Amino acid sequence: MDIYFYNTLTKKKEKFEPIQNDEVKIYSCGPTVYKNATIGNMRTNLFQDTLRRVLKYNGYKLKHVMNITDVGHLVSDGDEGEDKMLKSAREEHKTPLEIAEYYTKLFFADLERLNIEKPEIICKATDHIKEMLELVQKIMERGYAYETSTAIYFDVSKLDEYGILSGINLEEQKSGARVEVDKEKRNPYDFALWIKAPENHLMKWDSPWGQSYPGWHIECSAMSTKYLGEVFDIHTGGIDLIPTHHENEIAQSKGACGKIPAHYWMHGEYLLINGGKMSKSLGNVYLLDDIISRGYDPLTYRLFNFSCHYKGKLNFTWEGMNSAAVSLKRLREGYQKHLVGNAEVSDEIINDMENRFHQAINDDLNMPLAMSVVWEAIKYPEKSNKIAKLLEKFDTVLGLKIAEKKQEKEIPQEILELVEQRKQARAEKNWAESDRLRDLIAEKGYNIKDTKDGAQIEEISK
Ligand code: AMP
Ligand code: ZN
Repeated sequence: MDIYFYNTLTKKKEKFEPIQNDEVKIYSCGPTVYKNATIGNMRTNLFQDTLRRVLKYNGYKLKHVMNITDVGHLVSDGDEGEDKMLKSAREEHKTPLEIAEYYTKLFFADLERLNIEKPEIICKATDHIKEMLELVQKIMERGYAYETSTAIYFDVSKLDEYGILSGINLEEQKSGARVEVDKEKRNPYDFALWIKAPENHLMKWDSPWGQSYPGWHIECSAMSTKYLGEVFDIHTGGIDLIPTHHENEIAQSKGACGKIPAHYWMHGEYLLINGGKMSKSLGNVYLLDDIISRGYDPLTYRLFNFSCHYKGKLNFTWEGMNSAAVSLKRLREGYQKHLVGNAEVSDEIINDMENRFHQAINDDLNMPLAMSVVWEAIKYPEKSNKIAKLLEKFDTVLGLKIAEKKQEKEIPQEILELVEQRKQARAEKNWAESDRLRDLIAEKGYNIKDTKDGAQIEEISK
């Protein structure tokens, strides 16, 4: 069955045609390991995992590379400010290596808890300094870079086109009011390939330009070329990477070999919190640990992500998590009922559901639509082991561990008391208090449903 992906490069949904028939080569920009990954970061990783699983469902082998940025990513995402790793090391009184090891470990623990498959190749920037230097030299030799007193810059004016992913207009930019930090730069969009290190800089290496360190973008070009070749199939990342990081990766590849490195560029949208950005000042930066400490199965967050297409903005709320938790519980219970069922369900019905699920996932990873077929299977009135087998097949894409059995827990006394207080508030028509208590109960991981028989408490899967 054909697969279609939305390609940021062409701004179109396109039929997927891999370079090789049997193996798909993917590069994903990985984390900068200077702080905890948030559930927002995890949304991007879940999108990439779904892509992997869908390709495997279609019979492809994968060669998927993910980098770990442990040097060169400056605070501004451009060429300004301190290296994020060094800033974190200074603040936490650790060495950059300790910081990198600590946060890398936490990152992979999160992936595991979300049942996100590990890419076939994981590579660290600091292990590839030699490859990066060689690439910078190649770009220089081909006339696409120049040296200033502080750095080696890529000269974007040497390209036939810069900004193809994001549609930057260089002419407009030239007359714009951007304040230039480095007066030696030839063009505002020129970016650092390599940076000369100040005297007391912690992470630096010997180079033809003295003690120095890489810019952020060169690592991805160097590592993708090393492991996947000059041109591979799919490049992924979050949408924030389009205008700077990915434009610059394309520029570097064009400078080094005249080619755009990937055929398909796929970008995941952001996770919002209560409709806005996650930010420290709002106190709404959530980690997977926050979800787990509130009693949710981490896979609840995985299922929550399937309520939205990866290209749509997804709004995180605890109410939404509660619904997802109830759904996960029902999915697993529904699966168990089919598992022991012996009703006759025709192959035609099974094949039709399988076909529609397959079409949905192949249509640019349409998980909300795929989930509607999953629910159809779960709710199918005739309980049949054949449907259980079909659900197991679907779960190779969903990764929800649908066959897992969870122990029911009693509703804690604290929740029962809050429900009682809410009942009282409602009797007094104190709707504000009733809503406050509902939110509080939701935060603690329980859903309340007002029925004619009173409030029904739905325990989330724990
Ligand atoms: P950061 O930790 O901000 O450098 O983010 C690392 C990567 O995670 C970014 O490049 C984004 O692609 C992704 N990311 C960060 N925040 C979010 C979010 N709220 N939703 C989805 N992806 C995100
Ligand atoms: Zn990258």
